[in-house]
Amino acid sequence: MTPREREIILNGISGSPGICIGKAYLVDREGVDVIEKYYISEDKVKSEISRFKNAAKKAKNELSQVIEGLPEDLKQHSYILETHMLLHKDKMLYGKAIEIIESEKVNAEWALKEATSRAKAMFANISDPYLRSRSADVEHVSDCIMRNLVGVQDFNISNIDKRVILVAHNLSPAETSQIQLERIKGFITNRGGKASHTSIIARTLEIPAVLGLENATEVIKNDDIIIVDGNRGMVIVDPDEETLFRYENLSKKYEADKADAVRTSDQPAESSDGFLMGIMGNIEQPEEIVTVRDHGGDGIGLFRTEFLYLNRPQYPDEEELFEQYKEVVELITPKPVTIRTLDINGDKEISAVPTPDEANPALGLRAIRFCLKKPDIFKTQLRAILRAAAHGYIRLLLPMISGCEEIHRTIELLDEAAEELERENHAYNREIEIGAMIEVPSSALIADALAELVDFFSIGTNDLVQYTLAIDRVNRHVAYLYNPLHPAVIRLLKMVADTAHRKNVKVYMCGEMAAEIINLPVLMGLGFEELSMAPQSIPMIKNMIRKIDAAGARDFVKKICNQKSAVDTMQFIEDTYGNLLTETA
Ligand code: PEP
Ligand code: MG
Repeated sequence: MTPREREIILNGISGSPGICIGKAYLVDREGVDVIEKYYISEDKVKSEISRFKNAAKKAKNELSQVIEGLPEDLKQHSYILETHMLLHKDKMLYGKAIEIIESEKVNAEWALKEATSRAKAMFANISDPYLRSRSADVEHVSDCIMRNLVGVQDFNISNIDKRVILVAHNLSPAETSQIQLERIKGFITNRGGKASHTSIIARTLEIPAVLGLENATEVIKNDDIIIVDGNRGMVIVDPDEETLFRYENLSKKYEADKADAVRTSDQPAESSDGFLMGIMGNIEQPEEIVTVRDHGGDGIGLFRTEFLYLNRPQYPDEEELFEQYKEVVELITPKPVTIRTLDINGDKEISAVPTPDEANPALGLRAIRFCLKKPDIFKTQLRAILRAAAHGYIRLLLPMISGCEEIHRTIELLDEAAEELERENHAYNREIEIGAMIEVPSSALIADALAELVDFFSIGTNDLVQYTLAIDRVNRHVAYLYNPLHPAVIRLLKMVADTAHRKNVKVYMCGEMAAEIINLPVLMGLGFEELSMAPQSIPMIKNMIRKIDAAGARDFVKKICNQKSAVDTMQFIEDTYGNLLTETA
């Protein structure tokens, strides 16, 4: 093989931060991609179904062994694999495949392939990116059954005995959880994204990972030297000497900074001139509270509550919700828990009654709109929150607010819920802080009116960037345009922050923008009181805040609004904050 003349740079999505350098190890899995269709006679239907059931059973057993052997630090994520267990028996996959064998008289492999693509299409129509990316879970479960059907030996990650970087088309959460940290330095995949369960596991393992590279398995050969830059979502293949040298230093610096940050993570985040910021964790499951605590979080700035509503035929009842919220609040008391009400659209009723298709689900009946259309479901959640608020410090956060009416109506429902609880002699607390998520440009523009109705704003930049710049946040083809430092976004942020300060309303941020070190001077300069992020980012962000002067950042922000592009803005940040940020960002 002739060596490459120049290094190759591949851009993907940062699945988990950190840098590693090493030899590539291709995870090769053939045999399940090409599925043939053939018809079976009526008298073979029964045996074909039992062949399918056997394969599904074996796949399920394999998964339950993985769950049993889960290392201690991953136990908090066992819910991910438990969900896969449920998917193994889910109507839309398991049930559908059997139905297809029966009705179309086709082989089990083909039926499974068909059932999988139909289930994935249902997820694809969901506007919420977190839920949309759950189609990856369907794919992982289906792959596992398929391998058992076809009789292909699964690749066993725990058998790898060299210090390598894995290069795979895709890795399932179950496979990722098998990674032995003393052997595998990091991994990269063609598929997957930030919200994938695979990256959640990678972040918990604190192993660098870049996902969504599309063609990594084609470009990279076994034993190629590669650099994985999980901070920037970039992979460098066959780096030249200068790049190698630079990355070796960057990696050392990153590790040193990380160790430093972890040592001080339970200390408050106070800027060099004494401005105190709350650095909070985003969670999706009660179990993740432990990670937030371990990383020094000052509370929960965003509890995404969708998870409890997924993969089940009925909505959860009030008792179940109450128990979960109570558990969360008791685990972190006296620090606050910000519970965001259901952020989901009509398509959530995946397993119940299907709702009509929406041409533009991101602009459709999602989040608060969905909840206000289904007041019974909404009120059940509000009642559970009010009851849990009797056990600790809870804040209520409303997603995708686009006008004042939505807040008025929510307050009416809250009052009704409180009256009912009073009549029923339940303990509850109606005096909870109410916040509006600012993630639609209209809400940023009317922040002064909203400020009359709420106690705090929490800016959801993931959506605010999407709606302001008209960029589908999960569409890879326009991902290059997605940048929270776009001047239009910065101006909206400034508008909201200034209004909040003028109106005496607190202003927080819980979108991904808050977790990027390079954005910190802007966020500090705008006067955000709290930032909330994936728990693993907390120590580094706290550490960096301590190095920045808040008054200086405020002067700096006055000038940043005049920048003409995101590139100019980034350049301006780098020129001003230089070494402090860029080497670790
Ligand atoms: C956001 O939009 O920034 C946000 C935090 O909410 P989600 O990512 O759940 O849409
Ligand atoms: Mg959002």
